[in-house]
Amino acid sequence: LSQVRVEVVTIGDELLDGSIVDTNSALIAQKLLGLGLEVWRMTSIGDEPHAIRSALQEVAGRSRVALVTGGLGPTEDDRTAQAAAEAFGCPLFLHQPSLDRIRELFQSSGLEMTPNNERQAWVPGGSEVIPNPMGTAPGFALERGQCLLVFLPGVPRELERMLEETVLSMVARRLEPQGSVVSRTLKVFGLTEAKMGQMVAGALDGIPQASLASLPRYPENRLKVTARSADPRQALQALDEAERRLRERVGRWVYGLDGDELESVVQALLRRQGNRLAVAESCTGGLVAHRLTEVPGCSDVLEWAVVAYSLRAKEALLGVSREILEGPGPVSAQTAQAMARGAMARSGASVGLATTGIAGPGGGSQETPVGTVFLGLAHGSRAWSRRFQFRGGRGNVKTIAATVALDWLRQYLLGGDPEAYGAPWR
Ligand code: ATP
Repeated sequence: LSQVRVEVVTIGDELLDGSIVDTNSALIAQKLLGLGLEVWRMTSIGDEPHAIRSALQEVAGRSRVALVTGGLGPTEDDRTAQAAAEAFGCPLFLHQPSLDRIRELFQSSGLEMTPNNERQAWVPGGSEVIPNPMGTAPGFALERGQCLLVFLPGVPRELERMLEETVLSMVARRLEPQGSVVSRTLKVFGLTEAKMGQMVAGALDGIPQASLASLPRYPENRLKVTARSADPRQALQALDEAERRLRERVGRWVYGLDGDELESVVQALLRRQGNRLAVAESCTGGLVAHRLTEVPGCSDVLEWAVVAYSLRAKEALLGVSREILEGPGPVSAQTAQAMARGAMARSGASVGLATTGIAGPGGGSQETPVGTVFLGLAHGSRAWSRRFQFRGGRGNVKTIAATVALDWLRQYLLGGDPEAYGAPWR
């Protein structure tokens, strides 16, 4: 697609010593993709003036557009403007409107303006100043040969605003849009990355416009399809076809697209079916309820949620019988089912969901080692339970148990057999 070279250069010692992560490059790449432009190269360099100068000269010699962030601040280590002036032989000049604006900002905020704040109003000769509505340091753009170099502050929110308000249209004007790049992310839960990779291998053969990336995000996985074409319609067709083929392979493990979360999908299913849910949690300590209540509109579908940790609470709040608690015990299929039934019956909800298990690190036994979790589900007169063996520390076991509980419910609401549900952690 984009034959033109577009580069990003980020400046700052903090990037090289690992004290901050370079999110600016990612932000710029995402925004440019919206214009149909793919970044060809990203470079991070320190505050050393010689390094900045030579990086800028190299970039100007090989690319059509370079977006440079960082080092426009008021302090000694902010050397980008000076380095650009030296690299291209265009001495700094005082941009009076920027200085006036900086003065005004200080006056209106009641903060003292120190002489070094004035430094930020000095920009390389011949450059076009780019306003910074959120901060003191303006940006500036310089033409050198074939290349447009745009210098922007390092602070991410200032950068984002300036990209949107000025820089993207500046770049688009300079480079004819290169066609269309569209992407879609399939959210997957319940498969390891390796297993998923095996299932989708070769799925996009014959769709040259589409490419696939597998993005694990514990405990989930994502499949991101990107389609590129000079013709926007063709890009969309390729994307649709790629999604269809991936769904054919990964099927029920795809729980949603793009902005969907497991909890929002579960919420939507409950709402659509007119069901109301009651949750009874032990080892997940309220995590299932927390996740569901993160999604606005939860009160339409969530009737009741309790954390019943002790035996007494399981008995008193959920009516789990003493025989069960003393027989099979609190971490058992019977308890999970009884908790789900109890939650449903006592709340008047139509569906009950329960978790009980051993999150660790202590409390395991031969029969129920750490990581053993039973989930319970009740609907009408029926109830089910399922045993899982999860790995990892306490936090992992809680996270994965809550996620499996939501996914188990999701698949049941979609018509799946709760007893046939199986994830690789079974
Ligand atoms: P300021 O006007 O605030 O001084 P600046 O252009 O001088 O802006 P820097 O001093 O380089 O920017 O960085 C300011 C802050 O912005 C850094 O402390 C850091 O938190 C953040 N930042 C800088 N570069 C990046 C980057 N590449 N990715 C993410 N954050 C960054």
